[in-house]
Amino acid sequence: MRVHISRSLMDQILSLAAADHREICGLLLGSPGWIHDICPAANVAADPARHFELDPRTLLAAHKSARAGGPTVLGHYHSHPGGRPEPSSTDAACAAPDGSLWLIIGGGEARLWVATGIEGGKAAFNGVALDIM
Ligand SMILES: [Zn+2]
Repeated sequence: MRVHISRSLMDQILSLAAADHREICGLLLGSPGWIHDICPAANVAADPARHFELDPRTLLAAHKSARAGGPTVLGHYHSHPGGRPEPSSTDAACAAPDGSLWLIIGGGEARLWVATGIEGGKAAFNGVALDIM
């Protein structure tokens, strides 16, 4: 599995993450294998410096738009301010193994993951190759 994203969209995501000391989050939109756009969402977590929770209204609106012929919701992105671009134990506890993409930004880089199964009550993530073009 490989996923493509443009250099300019990746730069946009990295600068959004760099500009905020809280975790930023939003949706990845496009078509299978291609991230064409993002939809930034409010982080409505109680402690947004350490956790993220996508505004459910943004999620609902994006799925509604997808059903009406809009871009597919491929997954979401979020940042780990001061952390690594890898799923945290909280991420693993919250993830559903539904094949959606997780783009995680940390330390000035972004890595792509997919939750593919459950191990010991937590989601198991696999890295996904990201082609930045
Ligand atoms: Zn996380």
